[in-house]
Amino acid sequence: MPALRVPKREAELAKRKLKKLNLYDGKRRPKREGEFVLLPVIDDPTIHKLGYEVLETELHLRPERQIYRNLESVLAERLTPEELKYLRRYDVVGDIAIVQIPEVLEHRADDIVWGLRKVHPFIRVVARKGFHEGAFRIREYSIIWGEKRLETVHRENGVEIKVDLSKAFFNPRMKGERYRLAGLVRDGERILIPFAGVLPYALVIARYKNVKITAVELNREAYELGLENIKLNRKRLKGEIEFIHGDAFEILPELPTYDRVMSPTPRGVDALALTLSKAGRWLHYYNFVGEADIEEFRERIIDECSLQGKECDVRVKKVSDFKPHVFKVCADVRILG
Ligand code: SAH
Repeated sequence: MPALRVPKREAELAKRKLKKLNLYDGKRRPKREGEFVLLPVIDDPTIHKLGYEVLETELHLRPERQIYRNLESVLAERLTPEELKYLRRYDVVGDIAIVQIPEVLEHRADDIVWGLRKVHPFIRVVARKGFHEGAFRIREYSIIWGEKRLETVHRENGVEIKVDLSKAFFNPRMKGERYRLAGLVRDGERILIPFAGVLPYALVIARYKNVKITAVELNREAYELGLENIKLNRKRLKGEIEFIHGDAFEILPELPTYDRVMSPTPRGVDALALTLSKAGRWLHYYNFVGEADIEEFRERIIDECSLQGKECDVRVKKVSDFKPHVFKVCADVRILG
């Protein structure tokens, strides 16, 4: 796979440029080589026109991709190379493995379970996932192996998160995003998190920073799991979490403004005006946006800021690919005055 050989001091800039051009290959890790850095790029003719040397090199896969590779190589014993191409990325939440098995691999389900157990000997449940449904964003799952439960304790970013996938939303892939937000927060901030689920964002942030968090969640079962999670992590938390059960659209208007608002907005809900109105200095607003509509989304936020009489700097960051050409994005909105 190709990599660009870039002088160390230009590496950050080059990386940013590559990301903008959609040429950066985030599945692999960059590597230092003396005074140079090898930046992973996708195989595209334009990489030869950027003024840097292009090398063929083996760069390490990022850990989650590495895990996926392990399953692939274990399953190579039982599946044909053609079948292996249909394997999707899977997740491990606590001791539950969550897989998607496309129709063409239906007859291979037992082999996939065998492979997963070989790569992750500690798993006790293998569940097949369907889609997120309804306002509470709960997925349909069917258990295809192991104990008949979807409840477990997941460890992430130094906290323990009790989840029940049959009752409440949880996405382990947002681990890096939660860590990123925790890094932006300063001690002493007051933070509001609507759509808080079982509290993964609140817990991770309170784990690292001495802050006061107010979280709001409508799903009663998610709320109760969240309360348990506060207890479960009490000794680890530097910050405080206050958790309110109710509809964000009814509760937020009654609350004061906060230094920072984080909105892990459910798909299909528009809470931009609501959450911005409660943000004193920062808003981190998540949304699902088509590749071609990212700029339009940014402009919509700037318009909303001026409607509310706020001067803002808005940066939109792709967080994950949701489906082909549709991204989960986070708008980091800095309120200047
Ligand atoms: N922040 C959590 C959950 C995100 S999913 C996480 O990242 O894991 C969105 C959450 O918003 C769900 O838990 C859903 O139950 C909740 N929700 C949906 N509509 C709501 C509303 N009107 N008020 C408060 N919470 C709501």
